[in-house]
Amino acid sequence: METVKISIIGAGVVGLAIARELSDKINGDIVVFEKNESFGQETSSRNSEVVHAGIYYPKDSLKSKLCLLGNKLLYEFCKSKVIKYKNCGKIIVSTNEEEALQIKSIHEKAASIGVLGLTLLTKDDILKIEPQVYALNGIFSSTTGIIDSHGLMKILHEEAQNNGVMFAFGNEVVKIVKTSKGYAIETSKGEKILSEIVINAAGLYSDKIARITGFDVDALHYRLHFCKGDYFSISGATGMLHHLVYPVPHEKGYGLGVHATLDLEGCVRLGPDATYVDHIYYDVDDGKREAFYSAAKTYLPFLKEEQLMPDTSGMRPKLQGLNDGFRDFVIKEESDNGFPRFINLIGIESPGLTACLAIGEYVGDLISL
Ligand SMILES: Cc1cc2nc3c(=O)[nH]c(=O)nc-3n(C[C@H](O)[C@H](O)[C@H](O)COP(=O)(O)OP(=O)(O)OC[C@H]3O[C@@H](n4cnc5c(N)ncnc54)[C@H](O)[C@@H]3O)c2cc1C
Repeated sequence: METVKISIIGAGVVGLAIARELSDKINGDIVVFEKNESFGQETSSRNSEVVHAGIYYPKDSLKSKLCLLGNKLLYEFCKSKVIKYKNCGKIIVSTNEEEALQIKSIHEKAASIGVLGLTLLTKDDILKIEPQVYALNGIFSSTTGIIDSHGLMKILHEEAQNNGVMFAFGNEVVKIVKTSKGYAIETSKGEKILSEIVINAAGLYSDKIARITGFDVDALHYRLHFCKGDYFSISGATGMLHHLVYPVPHEKGYGLGVHATLDLEGCVRLGPDATYVDHIYYDVDDGKREAFYSAAKTYLPFLKEEQLMPDTSGMRPKLQGLNDGFRDFVIKEESDNGFPRFINLIGIESPGLTACLAIGEYVGDLISL
């Protein structure tokens, strides 16, 4: 059987960032298995493309650490590689007295975990910078921005490939067997390879990859829940907003509330919302229009319901079930669970795009090459 040093399962933004990072350290001897015919066809191209500041993650969690570092690395990378981005900033806005009180505590908590560039805003401050937005008070985050996620993935793929990484597109990993020399991997095309190190970056299917390898997914709490996020575009609103505009988030933390995001052309989208579902599908139900309108109308008073059009959607690979508390990213070398040199990345939901380069570095540190 052919052998390879490292196999990466999944060519989303995370698998690509890991491939690029590792290919800088060893020349060649890395293969990336991807079930689709190209990279970045799943969650990595179905998101808000926001470079997050890291405001809501618990101190010392991987989400917090990798988001803070990833934010900095991503801007530097975009600048040096000429990937399109806009450091437009975001505002979090309150629209009632209860939320207005929460603004101060969100600001204090975020500042205490090391989030940079946060400023409290009064109603007048907000009117000056976003005249179309209604708010009682708010927070400005200067390190938040948007990027061209496809442009980012294209460069990561190109650089990894130039460093000798092999991409096996159209190859779904269907079997993984632990042997004394590593892991025997088999794909849907009948390809077989023996890999010294395996990195599971399979996004929505990462718990499935762990299961077929032999991990007790339930005992380890690696089972994923699917949480769908739908978007509605707003016609006729291009150029009306200059920052991303977020409400005060849901107290359970499933998502960040129906917010207004911008793309690099200034078009405005609402979403994503957060709905737990039992299978993966991407249709957006027009029946949600009223709920999106009501949520956003509170801070975007100019909105008319007929401006909202169903747009795209994405699926969050969540470790946190509907009634659970915060769950961190699982990014772990699995010797202690009986699978040495096997790295699981499970539950890489937001801020996975922001954190991708930091995740690449983190995984590089987990394995001795
Ligand atoms: C609605 C939504 C909005 C978001 N907004 C943001 C945001 O604004 N900012 C931010 O930082 N993050 C955001 N995120 C999170 C971010 O998109 C993800 O964290 C990131 O894209 C995860 O990348 P990934 O490579 O882990 O997963 P994916 O992009 O899902 O890639 C995994 C890859 O593995 C492949 N694969 C799976 N199984 C197999 C197999 N058996 N064999 C071979 N290949 C396989 C898949 O085909 C896929 O290409 C958002 C997510 C959602 C859902």
